[in-house]
Amino acid sequence: MARCETCGNDYDKAFQLTMNGAVHTFDSFECAIHALAPVCAHCGVRIAGHGLEKADRIYCCAHCAQAEGARELRDRA
Ligand SMILES: [Zn+2]
Ligand SMILES: [Zn+2]
Repeated sequence: MARCETCGNDYDKAFQLTMNGAVHTFDSFECAIHALAPVCAHCGVRIAGHGLEKADRIYCCAHCAQAEGARELRDRA
């Protein structure tokens, strides 16, 4: 049994993720995303997919990257 560190749920199917050497325990991917997913530097949305990185900032989409001046980034559709 392990307790989700986001919502506190004590769940027998909880899972663990290792990020930057630290182990985190969650009961659901939603809780894991809430706790660990990066946030778009422009609109603040949680990035559960790849996102776009520029320097040490990360954006949810090319529109947000361009709005912050990272013009060379494009969504690769
Ligand atoms: Zn949870
Ligand atoms: Zn965004």
